[in-house]
Amino acid sequence: MTDQLMIPGPVELHPDVQSVLGEPQRGHLDPIFVSRFGASLKALRTVVGSPSAWPFLVSGSGTLALEMAGANFILPGEPVLVVSTGFFGERMAAILTRLGAAVTVLRAEPGGAPTPEEVDSALAARAYKAITITHVDTSTGVRTPLESYAKVAKARGALVIVDAVCSLGAEALEQDKWGLDVVASASQKALGAPPGLAVLTVSQRALEIRKSRKEPPTTMFGDILEWLPIMEGCESGTPRYYATPAVNAISALSVSLAHILAEGMPARVARHKHLAEALRHGLDALGLTYLPKSPALRAHTMSAVYYPAGKGPELVGAIAARGVTVAGGLLADLRQRYFRIGHMANFSASDIISTVAAVELALGATGGVAATSAALRNVKP
Ligand SMILES: *Cc1c(COP(=O)(O)O)cnc(C)c1O
Repeated sequence: MTDQLMIPGPVELHPDVQSVLGEPQRGHLDPIFVSRFGASLKALRTVVGSPSAWPFLVSGSGTLALEMAGANFILPGEPVLVVSTGFFGERMAAILTRLGAAVTVLRAEPGGAPTPEEVDSALAARAYKAITITHVDTSTGVRTPLESYAKVAKARGALVIVDAVCSLGAEALEQDKWGLDVVASASQKALGAPPGLAVLTVSQRALEIRKSRKEPPTTMFGDILEWLPIMEGCESGTPRYYATPAVNAISALSVSLAHILAEGMPARVARHKHLAEALRHGLDALGLTYLPKSPALRAHTMSAVYYPAGKGPELVGAIAARGVTVAGGLLADLRQRYFRIGHMANFSASDIISTVAAVELALGATGGVAATSAALRNVKP
């Protein structure tokens, strides 16, 4: 038996997703593959809540999706406001800096997030071309008030670029209703597929911005206008070649997306919320505390948990010895002080109970599992 994988990506795969990976290799023009590719693009529009967005699936990872967002929509010298709530906000700032953007970073203390008013006054200081927002920063477990940020950014006319790598497919996100121009994600987190894909959904407005550029971006592989005919071709059943797609990863993602649509996004968001809260009832009962400074900032896809007094990173090994793999800290200054539990995509109440049990046993404590079970009594199985 393998250990239970409870890290913030890659996540455990549903057996149906796993089994498609064991098929004989298909070609990139194989009709079954092409129909899976097309179905995945359609499904993504539902997952992001935008019938009119242009979805892109490109071999790579979330970092490529962030880089493509920068390379396609931001020109060298253009001012961008990066809202940073941790490691991945800093990464976005680094990517944009390399691309020559004029980057301003609005930082929160670790575990905090700027208020929408603070975002608004930062935006008021300069005519920013765009704002970038990390929905859930995987280094801090902080979920930002994305809808409120987007609202103030829209009012100021800034393009809204969202890092939804650790949220898309599990947290509420409405690309059209909230006015999100570019949503960047990856296959291996809340979308429940193996690693290998950068995921982007691009609004009509953002696509027009790319089309109206005089010079194409210097990245050829990451140019969405090179990929657009490929995506259109897959949706209409007339595939074309640009660069070899990650056939197996896309096939697996198509199965996971079919599960997501069958569950329904509202039910899926509710499941993640209920299970995250049940987990944290158990951790609360064990006396543990969290990096996010307030309950409203705690993500539903993962938890960043301080080690209790007298414990440190060895706790991760002690939890693993009880069969559950969790992740250590990621934020440079605090990495020795906390650990991270991923709870997204294909997991259930029993996974939450066994995770709390492993933490409880590793701490030599009691009461966590009982508190989690009590919280789960209010949840539909
Ligand atoms: C994982 C993650 C990334 C980076 O994605 P990779 O697939 O590892 O390149 C970026 N942003 C957030 C919020 C993430 O969780």
